[in-house]
Amino acid sequence: MPALSEYSVADFEHQVVAWGHPAVHARKILRRFYTGAGEIAWEKIELPKGLRERVLADGLVGSTLATRQQDPDGTVKLLLRLGDGRTVETVLMPDRRSDRAAGCLSTQVGCAMGCDFCATAQAGFERNLTSGEIAEQFLAIQREARAARRKLRTIVFMGMGEPMHNLDAVLAAVRRIGHGELGAVGWAQIAISTVGIVPGIEALAASGVPVALAISLHAPDDATRARLLPTGRRYGVAEVLTAADRYQAATGRVVNIQYCLLAGVNDSLEHARQLAALLGPRRMHVNLLRYNPTGLSLRGVNYEPSSDATADAFAAELRARKLVAHFRRSRGPDIAAACGQLRQRRTSMVSPPHATSGAVA
Ligand code: SF4
Repeated sequence: MPALSEYSVADFEHQVVAWGHPAVHARKILRRFYTGAGEIAWEKIELPKGLRERVLADGLVGSTLATRQQDPDGTVKLLLRLGDGRTVETVLMPDRRSDRAAGCLSTQVGCAMGCDFCATAQAGFERNLTSGEIAEQFLAIQREARAARRKLRTIVFMGMGEPMHNLDAVLAAVRRIGHGELGAVGWAQIAISTVGIVPGIEALAASGVPVALAISLHAPDDATRARLLPTGRRYGVAEVLTAADRYQAATGRVVNIQYCLLAGVNDSLEHARQLAALLGPRRMHVNLLRYNPTGLSLRGVNYEPSSDATADAFAAELRARKLVAHFRRSRGPDIAAACGQLRQRRTSMVSPPHATSGAVA
């Protein structure tokens, strides 16, 4: 039988009834599980004889901690070992406010999207995560946040994998993570990021789960974008932004556009003007990202981050054209906090080392 982390509220109610107990106990157990960051204070709930033992027989979670690294800036990166021995990354990112933090979750083991600058892409795709494996990342970073005396305020699906290619499991996990009755993070504090999978954006809009949407655009024109993101050959900039328009209209939530500044690739003032022309009328916000360089890309390109002066000029050009543009702080560069890097380094400890690259989406 699955571990407790795999159950939705409704499924666990059915399971508890199937075990011969009243359904009402299911919510009590799940509430303690989620508010306890994956650990249940059994002494605080009254349960029928044998139910606790039955739950424990299947286990609460299926993953274990393989590696924990902490950067001097407070970023904590965890490598979790899944039930089948594969590993997946999750990150706790401290907020500027000393009492808050954000968590970044992965949705797949590896990724099939092949983004050229991404460490995860280099390892290829292995499999989708289950909803429980996604929820367990949330619980693990919730424990980290509590240990750091911070409240986990925001969850972003920007780790390993393309969430839209595992949307059913992502939404199932989000429905638990964002479930008010389970004492977790609210919908408004959850963001799902995509490289621009148009059917996925439409499915997310139709799901009725009102999370924020972030789109990794990284270039304002199809040619530059397709060089960076192979999916750009399938879904052009105009089509992706039209889907984003529909998402904004359906949910009332402003879409965030992720834009990683790469020296000499997408960081000219002309790129900024093109981006402003696209986004200005849409009132979408721009998150400018710093690239974490670690070596050759998939296509053998040695990407470099834009200089501070170039990045500042790019942001100023956007703001001069009335766009809301922020720099997202680089997280934990000392521990390879860009997606895929920790797992890649860990893997290189047990297999022949290979080239590494940064990842940002
Ligand atoms: S940047 Fe994201 S979508 Fe692209 S290959 Fe890496 S993990 Fe996959």
